[in-house]
Amino acid sequence: MPQLRKEPLISELDIKVRIGHMVLDIAKDLKHQELLLVGILRGSFMFTADLVRLLYINDMHPLIDFVFVTSYEGTQSTGDLRLLREPSLDVEGRWVLIVDDILDTGRTMKYAQEYIKERGAAEVRSCVLLDKPVRRVVDVQADYVGFTIDDVFVVGYGLDHNGRYRDLPYLAILEGEATFE
Ligand code: 5GP
Ligand code: MG
Repeated sequence: MPQLRKEPLISELDIKVRIGHMVLDIAKDLKHQELLLVGILRGSFMFTADLVRLLYINDMHPLIDFVFVTSYEGTQSTGDLRLLREPSLDVEGRWVLIVDDILDTGRTMKYAQEYIKERGAAEVRSCVLLDKPVRRVVDVQADYVGFTIDDVFVVGYGLDHNGRYRDLPYLAILEGEATFE
């Protein structure tokens, strides 16, 4: 059975502080654009919610939408991506900021970027809370990254293991299950 490491990998406070800094970077680059923020469900729900509250403080008021991309079974990325929910807002001609919880193999972000570009977005930027660069399979980077982490499987702050642990307000390592392709 996988074991949750009780002590946080990244605490609730450290997450908030880091998002505050990311928002300053985003504001510097994108403040004068009317942004459409597209969160990738389900993992990004908590990050997206905190991000938009801090964007608000920086006087940025993006439109907000979500897509639902899924590829994982347990801790294994199947590589078989599916879009289970289309964006409901029109992306054509818009500056879009894609928000995801974590950049792992990169397949999800690449897929989302291509999907949004194909629908005629004027500009596509991406923002992730976590980045595991050693796991990358597809050539893709995020424009805004919260934390770069090693090859560990993390849960909490929206990220799950078989549906559990999304509610943790911090990030923790789930031990005993390696991540595989
Ligand atoms: P990628 O397509 O980049 O391989 O995977 C991105 C998605 O895989 C993320 O949005 C996330 O849902 C899931 N994922 C990747 N690494 C982890 C991890 O360490 N923990 C959890 N809970 N999900 C992960
Ligand atoms: Mg995800």
